[in-house]
Amino acid sequence: MRKVIAVANQKGGVGKTTTAGNLGIGLANMGKKVLLIDSDVQGSLTTSLGYREPDKLEITLANVFAKTINDEAMEADYGILKHDEGIDLMPGNIELSRIEVSLVNVMSRETILRSYVEMVRNHYDYVLIDCMPSLGMITINALACADSILIPVQAAYLPVKGLEQLIKTIGKVKRRLNAKLAIEGILLTMIDKRTNYARDISALISETYGSRVKIFDNGIPMSVRLAEVSAEGTSIYKHDPKGKAAAAYLGLTKAVLANEQEK
Ligand code: ATP
Ligand code: MG
Repeated sequence: MRKVIAVANQKGGVGKTTTAGNLGIGLANMGKKVLLIDSDVQGSLTTSLGYREPDKLEITLANVFAKTINDEAMEADYGILKHDEGIDLMPGNIELSRIEVSLVNVMSRETILRSYVEMVRNHYDYVLIDCMPSLGMITINALACADSILIPVQAAYLPVKGLEQLIKTIGKVKRRLNAKLAIEGILLTMIDKRTNYARDISALISETYGSRVKIFDNGIPMSVRLAEVSAEGTSIYKHDPKGKAAAAYLGLTKAVLANEQEK
């Protein structure tokens, strides 16, 4: 039942980090052992889990990349931080940008993260990788080691063009690097219930990509509570347990667990 999920979309600000954090803690609340990997130079996931100054952390994913590239051994718990809501975090920060540049000259540069994930995945039921808003080498590394990709898409406009590029990239990664890569699902986020966009966008995505691409039945509503949690260092379940955003992320958690049972 072990699974590695990359949360990715090269479009910025669509809810990737919010989703990685709250899905991860949702799975932990269901009794799963979860590792969250922050693969973004902005370190937003790390910050949102309460590590206010990610750039001051001593060990981050950048060190893991560097050690893997240099064939240096490390323990499975190297650099891992423990969050009080029951998840493990491999933090990320600005150092990753240097790694991204240096990867150009590295042998097997697309599969560095895979070596690390292969080493740690036996300790977890789920490994979630929060990707940065680009399709650069670190995101390719995430796709190359994932079993599936979960794609948050903002429901406030028609984002089909950006998705096309992402789906093309997924196809390329599947052919060249990782034949098992599946699409976990498209997650509509920041849904404004006063408009009917969500339904229109779901219909449009299905029309354009057909049954190849699964869309989660329920998306995530627009919610100021979610905007607040990133500043709190907690999950939505702690911050506003009875609210609609917590219910929506619980629904996503169950849908991801159900995806597993279908197989
Ligand atoms: P980036 O591309 O920069 O990594 P992202 O895709 O990870 O961004 P988030 O950081 O999760 O997106 O969200 C962007 C902003 O929107 C954050 O301030 C977050 O708190 C807020 N946000 C996320 N989801 C929602 C929502 N459903 N309703 C309202 N605000 C949200
Ligand atoms: Mg983010």
